[in-house]
Amino acid sequence: MIHYKTPEEVDIIKESGEILGRAHAEVAKIVGPGVRTDELDKIAEEFIRDHGGDPSFKHYNGFPATLCISVNENVVHGFPSDYELQEGDIISVDCGVKYKGFHSDSAFTYPIGSVSDEVRKLLRTTKESLYIGIGAAKHGSRIGDVGYAIQHYVEERGYTVVRELVGHGVGKNLHESPEVPNYGRRGRGTKLNHGLVIAIEPMINLGTKHVVQEEDGWTIRTRDRKPSAHYEHMVAVWKDRTEVLTTHKYIEEIITI
Ligand code: MG
Ligand code: MG
Repeated sequence: MIHYKTPEEVDIIKESGEILGRAHAEVAKIVGPGVRTDELDKIAEEFIRDHGGDPSFKHYNGFPATLCISVNENVVHGFPSDYELQEGDIISVDCGVKYKGFHSDSAFTYPIGSVSDEVRKLLRTTKESLYIGIGAAKHGSRIGDVGYAIQHYVEERGYTVVRELVGHGVGKNLHESPEVPNYGRRGRGTKLNHGLVIAIEPMINLGTKHVVQEEDGWTIRTRDRKPSAHYEHMVAVWKDRTEVLTTHKYIEEIITI
């Protein structure tokens, strides 16, 4: 069942998204070579709690941290650890905030120091595909139109789409209906109606689309161990427009990819 949101509920989600966007920026300020990924987690958690929110991911189905941190061939759901980031790595930072009963959810993949042209292109294309997906998320269109737009954009450029993990509705629960795959067929799937709030989150691989789960029971990595990128925003679909509810603005004041 889809929980459509009122404008008042979406206003709360936007407040949640604002705290989230600023928490991401705290990470952006210090992320770089030599930084341990568990330091990033600590900073994000403190910032969220100091601003009246709770980290959505912490204890979600037993997940141990505020951030999902996925380095290089890890796609999503990696744990923060004592791993020290190295020049040439890429790192997906995914975070959620619960505020006044509503969740927000967004992700950004950073290059660490200078990365190869091949990898930088993967990051740029994945981020572009997020906005292509947002552009396709219009009132009256369908979930398949969003997935098709993302898939077509990245496959045309030689990349592949992870199938096993998808975007999702968001609200009082972190994961709600409908699922929002990053692949699909035009005109298929759930119709995007007034008040729908979804997270769109392309996970795009440099090599093949195949992924495996690590033995920790969480981390998803590419089967061929080639890098994967991940960017995520939430949007609300209204009759006359689609509104982006999360922001990368504060990250992008600090870094460009
Ligand atoms: Mg999500
Ligand atoms: Mg997320």
